[in-house]
Order: sequence, then structure tokens, then C-alpha cells
Amino acid sequence: MEDQLREKAKELLEGGEIKVVIGYGWNNRKTRITPVFITKAEDVDKLVFNALCVNNLSIYLTRKYKDIQAMGKPAIVAKGCDIKNIVVCISEGQVERDNVHIIGMTCSGVVYKQELWQGELKDNIMPSKCHNCDVRNPHITDSVIGDPVDFTPPEEPAGMLFDKIREFDSKPASDRWEFWNEHFTRCVKCYACRQVCTLCYCERCITDKNQPQWIETSAHPRGNMAWNLIRAQHLAGRCTQCGECERACPVNIPLNMVNSKLALTVKESFGYRAGYDTEEHPPMIVYKPEDEEDFIR
Ligand code: SF4
Ligand code: SF4
Ligand code: SF4
Repeated sequence: MEDQLREKAKELLEGGEIKVVIGYGWNNRKTRITPVFITKAEDVDKLVFNALCVNNLSIYLTRKYKDIQAMGKPAIVAKGCDIKNIVVCISEGQVERDNVHIIGMTCSGVVYKQELWQGELKDNIMPSKCHNCDVRNPHITDSVIGDPVDFTPPEEPAGMLFDKIREFDSKPASDRWEFWNEHFTRCVKCYACRQVCTLCYCERCITDKNQPQWIETSAHPRGNMAWNLIRAQHLAGRCTQCGECERACPVNIPLNMVNSKLALTVKESFGYRAGYDTEEHPPMIVYKPEDEEDFIR
């Protein structure tokens, strides 16, 4: 698979249209996978692909990384779940479809450290997104690397995360409030969740605005609650549940639980799932004259 990937990268760079291949490589000590930016055909052997290729590299297509955009047209190595984020960026006018070559990787899952249940952290766990994945054979691509994966995604979201959400939904509101209050109180306002998210691409985030100041900037329980709830709402109907924000959070706040709950609600209410159609806009940002609700008129 890696040979096939390197061959494709070489072909694209030698073709001249693609100026940089955004992909995965080993760090110096070969202990971790890190993003690599290949601009010369002779460097394609640095590209690798394995179960540690967790990072969602689509972040490098956004305006957060203007230096990479200045390099010229990119090709990006992307798993199906990463492609969903590219799709949302295209549908929101942040990335032009013709301005990126998507090298879709067939994928049997990745592994990383994840909170399992009530604060228990385990290494080399396959995340819930992989258990529920329906894009192991990438869905929107310019080239595909790897053999097709034979799999059947579950009809309903399954696994420990979704069991936890269903159990949590049945609890009284006071218990749910206490749960989130406890977790959000631990937030240190590092903004790693925002920085790692492809879809948090605003030039100026609401939390950075101080005239007026919408959210307290210090790591204070009141401001923490506002920050996490506002961020969740800004991602409602757009988040693809890629899991990068939870993975980046240094204090292990279960952000996947918030994101997945909102995604389930949007699916139930609007029949919409983010990341599958470059032409369809997320329901929270479209207005249709025939909408039944009249609050906006
Ligand atoms: S969610 Fe699907 S495409 Fe993404 S890493 Fe898991 S198995 Fe691969
Ligand atoms: S899971 Fe987190 S990082 Fe991924 S799209 Fe949703 S909010 Fe962004
Ligand atoms: S990554 Fe975690 S600690 Fe940092 S701002 Fe986000 S929720 Fe808070």
C-alpha cells in the first residue's frame, strides 16, 4: 500500500500540477506518526500509511495554514473520515474542489489512546468512529490507494460511546448538568480543540472577541461552560465526529460525547449527516422559504 502511495505521489509531483503532497511520515525516532509535506519527487519515500496515521490532515487545507496554501495546489492523503471534513469545507466554500487532489486511502481503522468509561484511559484502542465507519472505502476521491475493504457498517450507531449517550439521555436533567459542569470545570482554555478542528476556521473566533466580550477568557467554570457550549453549537450539523478535538484535549473532556449527541439530533431532526455531499449545505446555515418554522421571517 505504501509503495502504491509513493508511486502516486511521485507521479503527481512530476506531473507539475501538484506542488505539495500532504501526508503521514515517521518522526525522527520512528516512534510516532507526524504530518509531512513532500514537495520533491525524490522525497516520496518519507510517506507512510498504517494504523497510527490518526491525524486528520484536512486542517492543512484551511486558511489557518496560509503558508501551505501559498505552495500551490496540494494533494492530500486522506482516510474516508478525513474526507468528510474536506467535504464540509467544500460545501461551505472554504476549499475549491478543483484546487485539491484527494488521495483516498482504503482503511481498516486506526488506534490511539482513548477514554473508555468514566475516566479510564487505554492505549491502542480503536476509536468509536472506526466501529461505526461507513467510509472505509473512501467516498470522494481523485485517486484511491489500497485494496477495497469488505465490511458492513452498523445500521444504527453502535459501541460504548453510543451506549453511554443512550444511558446518559435517560438521566434527570440535574444529573446531566452535574456531569458536564464537572467536566467543563476542568477545561484549561488551551483551545487545542479549536486549533485541531478543520471546521473551526473563523479568522477571529468568538472567544477572542473582547468588544463586546462574549466569553470570559480565564479558565473559570462560568466561562468554560460558555466556551464549550458555544463551540458545540457552532459545530452542530457540521461536525463529522472525526474525534480530533477529544484526542487533543489535555484534560480528557469527553468532547466526542457532545459532538456525537448533536450529530444524532441533527440526523433525527433534518435527516442530514455532515461530510457526504459537497453540494449540500449543513441544515443550520440554510433558509428555505417553505420551512414550517416562522421565527426567522
Ligand atoms: S473512521 Fe473509517 S476511515 Fe476513519 S480511521 Fe476509522 S476505519 Fe478508517
Ligand atoms: S470531532 Fe471535533 S475536531 Fe472533528 S470535526 Fe467535530 S468538532 Fe471538529
Ligand atoms: S482542548 Fe480541552 S482543555 Fe483545551 S480548551 Fe478545549 S475543552 Fe478546554
